[in-house]
Amino acid sequence: MGRTAQHCKQCGRIIYFDGICISCRAENERKEILAWSQEEIDDAVRKICDEIKETGELDKESDVFTKLVNYRDIDTSEIAQVAFEKQLFYPFEMYKDASDEIIRAMLEMLSQDNVDTMLGANHLLSCLAIHGGEEVFRSFMEFEKNPRKWREKVYVNPSVYATNGGWSYDSSGNALKTIFDKCYPMVKGTPNEKEHSPVKIGVRTREKCSHCGCTMVNLMEIDGRDSRLQFLGIDGVIKAKCCPNCIMWSDDHFCRYTVNGESEIIYEKEPFNTENYMKDEGIEEMASNSYILGETPVPLRYAADWEGGSSVGGFAFWIQDCVIKHCPDCGKTMKYLAQIQWDTVLDGMEGNAYIEICEDCNVIAVLHQQT
Ligand SMILES: [Zn+2]
Ligand SMILES: [Zn+2]
Ligand SMILES: [Zn+2]
Repeated sequence: MGRTAQHCKQCGRIIYFDGICISCRAENERKEILAWSQEEIDDAVRKICDEIKETGELDKESDVFTKLVNYRDIDTSEIAQVAFEKQLFYPFEMYKDASDEIIRAMLEMLSQDNVDTMLGANHLLSCLAIHGGEEVFRSFMEFEKNPRKWREKVYVNPSVYATNGGWSYDSSGNALKTIFDKCYPMVKGTPNEKEHSPVKIGVRTREKCSHCGCTMVNLMEIDGRDSRLQFLGIDGVIKAKCCPNCIMWSDDHFCRYTVNGESEIIYEKEPFNTENYMKDEGIEEMASNSYILGETPVPLRYAADWEGGSSVGGFAFWIQDCVIKHCPDCGKTMKYLAQIQWDTVLDGMEGNAYIEICEDCNVIAVLHQQT
């Protein structure tokens, strides 16, 4: 017996259970936490600390912790203190505002050949990456130059771990940012507002994909001349083009763009499936979404969670590991630019798309991840 289709009681989309859809539930939770007073936040932080003290873990309160960090950018120094006492290193964001003493102690642990925690170097590197700062930066470079024994057990270099915190460094030791330090959410608007929005998602083009024949879309169009988007440093309109069918099968591709809105896909390899599963109705549904750029900036991690939605700048929500591509032209680490949560523009489409940029070479990377 199949489940019967019904409408979400809040937004009207088709769901197969009683009540409101997952994205409306997430939106309601977000609104609730955005409305919390400082007192309510302090109470929640106390509860988080109590759980860690009592159980040595963050489980029951973990969800509220993530939301407080993402939506309210809470100070985590107190949480880091109790977590460190219990040698608890997950979730990594607990160490965002850890004290200098704790950071030094963690770096000291990593300076040994063998890291004596249950989870090893992996988690320590991730926590330190989130914290960032001069001392962590210098130590990461040193660990990379003179690898300790634990390096055999972790998959990538410290410079790659660093990208979890939005920074990294090149082979000459120059520090670099892998994120923009402002974030705007994509929010629902009217057709008229969409007409004037400097950022649009899923715009239909006249081109067909050379691999599968699907209609190509501009996954995102960004007009950097809007005053809100000055922080991007893009003097014109850029378009991240993609075949919404092939992106599912190819993980990533690059586009060469001009600030006049030209964009050309550079495929390095053929996608491993070239059958077109994307019907024209799908393209139409995607193109008719009502998302516009939000009026005011939000904390950098605002969209860094399941149901985080689409956003420009700040941190992405990586469904798998954080992946910052290297520019195919200059070889430098690219910068994360935007995220699109697929099912907000096309019902039933899984995962997120991510856009990264090298502004020196006018190259965009489009990535896709799903569970
Ligand atoms: Zn809904
Ligand atoms: Zn295609
Ligand atoms: Zn480049």
